[in-house]
Amino acid sequence: MNAPEEDPGVKYRRVVLKISGEGFAEPGQRGISMQAVEHIAQQTKLAADQGVQLAVVIGGGNLLRGAQFTSQSSSIHEATAHYMGMLATVMNGLALQDALESLGCQTRLMTAIRMDGVAEPYIRRRARRHLEKGRIVILAAGTGSPYVTTDTAAVLRALELEAQVVLKATRVDGVYSDDPEKNPHAVLYSKLTYQQVLEQRLRVMDPTAVAQCMEHDLPVMVFNFQKPGNIVRAVRGERVGTLVHSASATSQPPGPRTQP
Ligand code: UDP
Repeated sequence: MNAPEEDPGVKYRRVVLKISGEGFAEPGQRGISMQAVEHIAQQTKLAADQGVQLAVVIGGGNLLRGAQFTSQSSSIHEATAHYMGMLATVMNGLALQDALESLGCQTRLMTAIRMDGVAEPYIRRRARRHLEKGRIVILAAGTGSPYVTTDTAAVLRALELEAQVVLKATRVDGVYSDDPEKNPHAVLYSKLTYQQVLEQRLRVMDPTAVAQCMEHDLPVMVFNFQKPGNIVRAVRGERVGTLVHSASATSQPPGPRTQP
């Protein structure tokens, strides 16, 4: 299959889409819901159909997060728990791969921890080649190293694959001044600088990931993946959530946009 034709209205030609594990489960639940996975696959296909080269970094929080596990059990080494978390992302990745292929998409699942027979090993040049051929590349097992999260994996992969943006898919409309589910006065930001995110400890990504973005001037768009069509709007450069970028990228001081 050849790559879909490029649409001139598309702003970002190569993107890393970060989907947290929570997107793979029903709201408030754990495990894998195939209905949720099918929704992710449909939305992801819409972006691929725009001719965007798409690498999807998968989280695993719906199944297991290393940090949670260690607080419950001291008999498991913290590093082991993180490896378990990385394996959880592979299960999500397998589910997404099949859901995408049932929609007719060409995909490759690549893992940062070798597991021949299940997926290809992640090799940067190979991943780039898949992207150039129009295949959706699903990146699982995070960085392959414990003590970090898949947010950091998303940023590192975006840098090495030379993606123009990290699209962080969430269940809320963007970055808020406070938890919008608990505080009805929480304000939704339209734009933020990396510095503001770090100083105000806003929940965008883990601080290591934000610091990497800042160092390399890699923009992050945080948006609601549940709203149909938002992914297409995001790759077309339309404002669908909160854009986190460098101070020099804007002439206006970033500020709150709306009351939710
Ligand atoms: N993890 C890790 N190294 C990585 C990526 C992930 O050790 O490079 C582990 C870590 O324990 C993490 C878990 O895998 O909690 C699942 O990933 P994450 O919490 O980022 O998933 P998400 O919150 O996006 O669902």
